[in-house]
Amino acid sequence: MSPGRLLLSCLLFKETLALSGSFWHITDLHWDPTYRLSDNPELVCTSSSKRPALRAGKFGDYVCDSPWHLINSSVYAMKHILPDPDFIVWTGDDTPHVPNEDLGEEAVINIISNLTNIITEVFPSTKVYSALGNHDYHPKNQFPPAPNSIYNRTAEMWHDWLDPESKETFKKGGYYTEKLLNRNGFRMLVLNTNLYYDQNKLTLDTDDPAGQFSWMDRTLTEAANNKEKVYIIGHVPPGFFEKKRSKPWFTSKFNKHYVDLIKKHHSVIVGQFFGHHHTDSFRMFYNTEDLPIGTMFLSPGVTPWETTLPGVVDGANNPGIRVFEYDTKTLLVRDVVTYYLNLTHANAVTERWEKEYRLTESFRVPDASPASMHRVLERIATERCYLQKYYDFNSVSYDLTHCDNDCRVDHVCAAREIDFEKYEQCVIKEGAVSINGGQLLVVLSVAVSIVAAGW
Ligand SMILES: [Zn+2]
Ligand SMILES: [Zn+2]
Repeated sequence: MSPGRLLLSCLLFKETLALSGSFWHITDLHWDPTYRLSDNPELVCTSSSKRPALRAGKFGDYVCDSPWHLINSSVYAMKHILPDPDFIVWTGDDTPHVPNEDLGEEAVINIISNLTNIITEVFPSTKVYSALGNHDYHPKNQFPPAPNSIYNRTAEMWHDWLDPESKETFKKGGYYTEKLLNRNGFRMLVLNTNLYYDQNKLTLDTDDPAGQFSWMDRTLTEAANNKEKVYIIGHVPPGFFEKKRSKPWFTSKFNKHYVDLIKKHHSVIVGQFFGHHHTDSFRMFYNTEDLPIGTMFLSPGVTPWETTLPGVVDGANNPGIRVFEYDTKTLLVRDVVTYYLNLTHANAVTERWEKEYRLTESFRVPDASPASMHRVLERIATERCYLQKYYDFNSVSYDLTHCDNDCRVDHVCAAREIDFEKYEQCVIKEGAVSINGGQLLVVLSVAVSIVAAGW
């Protein structure tokens, strides 16, 4: 290569590096302060609800929420892997899965405070965008659409992470917006979607709890006027749980309202980052012409806790943490890199956080744009090797069993359709199709009939 061309390619490389940013997304840490190794497997942790913790070790057990040792390990793993991220997204659920009687407001605040402290200690100069999870209230899920002492105390606790204006809206409804890293043209919206959760009895009879929808509409309209690019983060996502057929989280009217707002403002929303599932998945948004206009990334949780949701078989996961790589000029998500701790190995041998996968490598796409994520979804829907790969990653390489056709339908329809009616239509449509030997049977039979008909 000539010196001139070498210089040019070096400059281009530098330019690409300069446009590249990265941030951490962590979620669902669920610290269980009662976790302790015991001879009686039923007494290892309260969060197991008497299920025996037969694989318990220093780093936890698959039926328990996180011991402090796991929390500590995950935050230090972040520091070791990417010590200087542009910012951290933390999407809540800090307390253990235990009955309300075992917690109380002081216990909830104390747990949020301990997690806030460790993140601040390990990343003292990193901006953190933090959303509340449905477990970060007492009683759990019952988030009021009005000021209360938990919003107040949490806003004070997160003082260093919140602008004065953010603090005000947070105290009113648990949500806020800020310029992303204080830069003109970039914005972060932190939502309190616990207000839309169907388990929340305080908001069922209202249309716009805490005025969050109208605030979101206004904020996104202003963002468009100011030519801003926006990220949205929150805890409970709209749409369906991919591990249980027809299981949504939002009530129907809130689900519709959320989807309508995203469709209306999709041109400014570049990414949505949520938690709550503890699994690794994503959701697509399409316009009326069925073109992909947005993606919501659902990041895996730190807690390995096996869900007690009826109908879900072996719903545990390995602890996961995730880096998003993005274009600092456009906010386009370039890649997603997931790191995990094999809990069995950690307990038996040693703590080893390792890369689980890089999205672009594993699914052979150029980036994580809505168009690329649509391609990923179509590969999962039609090619067995991609379906199985996605399924292994879904539980953070915990459940490596075969994903059969029912499983395919559950995962594909949850990722493709957030709208309640369209999801049910998808389940019927996809249920009539199955993949065999890497190809869609229905596609094959159509091809055979085309040949037979002499077309
Ligand atoms: Zn959770
Ligand atoms: Zn949750």
